[in-house]
Amino acid sequence: MPPPRFPWPFTNGPGAVNTDNWPFRAAEIEVPGGVYLCQVSEQVSCGACCGLYNRVDVSRETLYTLLEARTRRFRRIQRTAEGIEAFRQREESLDSAPGPYPDFYRCPFLGLVGNDRSRVGCLLHPLSDGNKGIDFRGLSFYGGLACRRYFCPSHRSLDKNRKQIVKAVCANWHLYGLVIPDVEFINVVFSEIERRVEHAVEAKEILGNTAAAMAMRALFGFKERWPFRPVGWKGPGNYFFNDAAHPALPVDYQRPGVAPSEYDAFFQALGSEFTSRSALDAAEAMAASAFSRVTRCIQR
Ligand code: SF4
Ligand code: SF4
Repeated sequence: MPPPRFPWPFTNGPGAVNTDNWPFRAAEIEVPGGVYLCQVSEQVSCGACCGLYNRVDVSRETLYTLLEARTRRFRRIQRTAEGIEAFRQREESLDSAPGPYPDFYRCPFLGLVGNDRSRVGCLLHPLSDGNKGIDFRGLSFYGGLACRRYFCPSHRSLDKNRKQIVKAVCANWHLYGLVIPDVEFINVVFSEIERRVEHAVEAKEILGNTAAAMAMRALFGFKERWPFRPVGWKGPGNYFFNDAAHPALPVDYQRPGVAPSEYDAFFQALGSEFTSRSALDAAEAMAASAFSRVTRCIQR
């Protein structure tokens, strides 16, 4: 099988997780936008640009099972070019089902890292268990430079307060990795909240407010479980690269014969399909309730 197309302009660096900035190396890297988004805490990190969500089944349980088994296998291999290449071939054969984005490479070196294997991260990183400080990322599809230097558009384009809030409220790697690369979804959520509260939301309004943080988490949690997804939809992992090869699909309101919803942007960002008026009513009630919960908590 030919290798997948290389979808990123090299000047931006192709997609790969930036694990350089684990806590003790934070000072060594210049982060576009000033807020590092890839590794957040013991439980929270992102592996979206390594292709983690480019699968048909991206439930937390399925991904954890896959990553946990892969990490155990990696622990047993010899850290040589031959050992790592054999591991790559085996992992790719074990995980060969096509993903929804054919041109988005799914790296077989993404695994679980941290004291309790509690978050996603790169098994080839010099700080990963057993690597003894050697950076093996040069043996990956993208190569070491790309893996070290890629920053997804969220780094550059998201407002700093929004980044800080997403980092604080998405309490596990699965939800965080679905949300943080999705600029459109994050901005739609904040636009609706800010329309309601009539001011730009600052991080301090959420971070010191447990009820508000829980309400925000529930809102972002729709990324994990939204019951109105279209058949054949490619999400909930989004395609965030510069070539815009897979734009979000508009919501079809003609089929149920209804007018576009006031939550149209939110529904589109989540990926939605409504087969009837009552389905749309149910979705609007869920959205209204979730947004109201947040705005009640932060109303000045
Ligand atoms: S998608 Fe963005 S936040 Fe996630 S690992 Fe890649 S660069 Fe970091
Ligand atoms: S080698 Fe590591 S950083 Fe690079 S794409 Fe694979 S998992 Fe991501």
